[in-house]
Amino acid sequence: MARKTAKPKVTPCEPCKGTGEVSRTVHVGRKRRDVGQQTGICLNCLGSGEIPADD
Ligand SMILES: [Zn+2]
Repeated sequence: MARKTAKPKVTPCEPCKGTGEVSRTVHVGRKRRDVGQQTGICLNCLGSGEIPADD
């Protein structure tokens, strides 16, 4: 019953879709004006883009 479907040991990170970066909207001023998007490191995976499996 040995299957060859080797499961990856890591899971792609959801918030960044495995890219390690997430774009967030930048607001400026009291009116919270939307000045665009900024790319930042994904805090969920810390930029690795994948979540290490526990087992
Ligand atoms: Zn991530």
